[in-house]
Amino acid sequence: MGFLDKTINELINTEYECSCGRKHIAHIDNIAIGKNALQKLPGLIDRQKLADGRVFDKARDQILMVTDVNTRKVCGERVLALLKEYGYQVQEYCFPYEKMHAADEGVEELREHFFEGLSLIITVGSGTLNDTTRYAAFHAGIPYYIVATAPSMDGYASNVSPLIHNNLKTTYVCCNAAAVIGDAELLATCPTKMIGAGLGDIIGKYLAINDWKMSGVINDEYFCEEVGDLVLYSVQKCVDNVPGLVNREPEALTYLMESLVLIGIAMSYIGVSRPASSSEHHIAHFLEMKAIFNGEYGEMHGTNVGMATCLIHDMYQKLLQMDIDFDEAREKAKQFDYDRWEAEIRRSFGLAADEVIALYQKVGQDNPENVIPRIDAMEKNWNVLRGMMENVVEKTNKAAGLLTQLNGLTSPEGYGLTKGEIKDILTYAKDVRNRYGALQIFYDLGVLEELSDYIVEKYMG
Ligand SMILES: [Zn+2]
Ligand SMILES: [Zn+2]
Repeated sequence: MGFLDKTINELINTEYECSCGRKHIAHIDNIAIGKNALQKLPGLIDRQKLADGRVFDKARDQILMVTDVNTRKVCGERVLALLKEYGYQVQEYCFPYEKMHAADEGVEELREHFFEGLSLIITVGSGTLNDTTRYAAFHAGIPYYIVATAPSMDGYASNVSPLIHNNLKTTYVCCNAAAVIGDAELLATCPTKMIGAGLGDIIGKYLAINDWKMSGVINDEYFCEEVGDLVLYSVQKCVDNVPGLVNREPEALTYLMESLVLIGIAMSYIGVSRPASSSEHHIAHFLEMKAIFNGEYGEMHGTNVGMATCLIHDMYQKLLQMDIDFDEAREKAKQFDYDRWEAEIRRSFGLAADEVIALYQKVGQDNPENVIPRIDAMEKNWNVLRGMMENVVEKTNKAAGLLTQLNGLTSPEGYGLTKGEIKDILTYAKDVRNRYGALQIFYDLGVLEELSDYIVEKYMG
């Protein structure tokens, strides 16, 4: 039985011997998504294993429910009522903010509300509260549940928390939630833009999987076809159900939430975020960094990923119209000037430049010694790679139209950034992570600058 025949709960906690030669496993105790999923909460709590090996005991163990002012109003009150109805001892902490970043300060604030006898944390929220709780719960050795309030990003089933630390987004390896609950009725109460953000994070997977596959051809990087297919299958299901998302139908919201959780499972299978994140995420990270430096909240992660997907779609489409001269690309690659690059990174990344430069010292992504063999591989396999690019362009053709229906963004225009800043983002986003993807492919082929100019002109000209 392959992945595609399994339900989401069959995909977790059992080892799968894959045709790629590896064994895949994802450790998440429980996933409950769909209509009336919230009603499963008491059953899960009563079976929950605690840090000391005991099973949760109503008589002595206490729960902390975590919300913010928005999530408390919409969903938190229902969760609290349910917990009280079933006789649990529950205290609560509501972050008194309309908007917050996932940052060190939030973790500290939450810790101050931990108490003697606290055995389980139940957080009602989405990205920020999930990341904040995961970090605090992991370091306190307390299991936590996440009751999702929006299908807005793919971090629910993740084991890492990206937190802002000294003005920089830093990813900390923590633990998985012991349970992820996505009740279709609760999810339907979120703003449309959050559903659009979730779709944006999902639609970017077309690019992420394709870049991964192409890197298999160009760099001989390990690629798992089955995990790739699993992700693409679930992306397609969401894309086919956009009208249902617009109408907030429970089935469509369930598909989207399941897909977002499934992406987390796929990441656990591979051990890194490769199946979920490539150049579209590098652009999103750069935009998120800019917002933090400017003291703003910026757009949601998934909104940024959706927008970046539209831009990379356009860049691939343009590339396919160009005549690629591989000899010229090799000549260009040889002219790489490290000092100039470092000066450009300091100018465009500001506070984050040291980190980007340190990464280059390890990876040397633009070093001709690394670039030229990749150009050779591309030349040799150009027909295969072209086919993959044509395929992904066809898949992402509808992205802009679908995202617009859910209040997503499809252009860099609304970000309040200058043309120069957008060009910097397109040119240097590839340097924020060590992951081979579209933007590095464009660089290797010697056309990144031309494609970046094309995008800036197209959207901001
Ligand atoms: Zn595999
Ligand atoms: Zn993402």
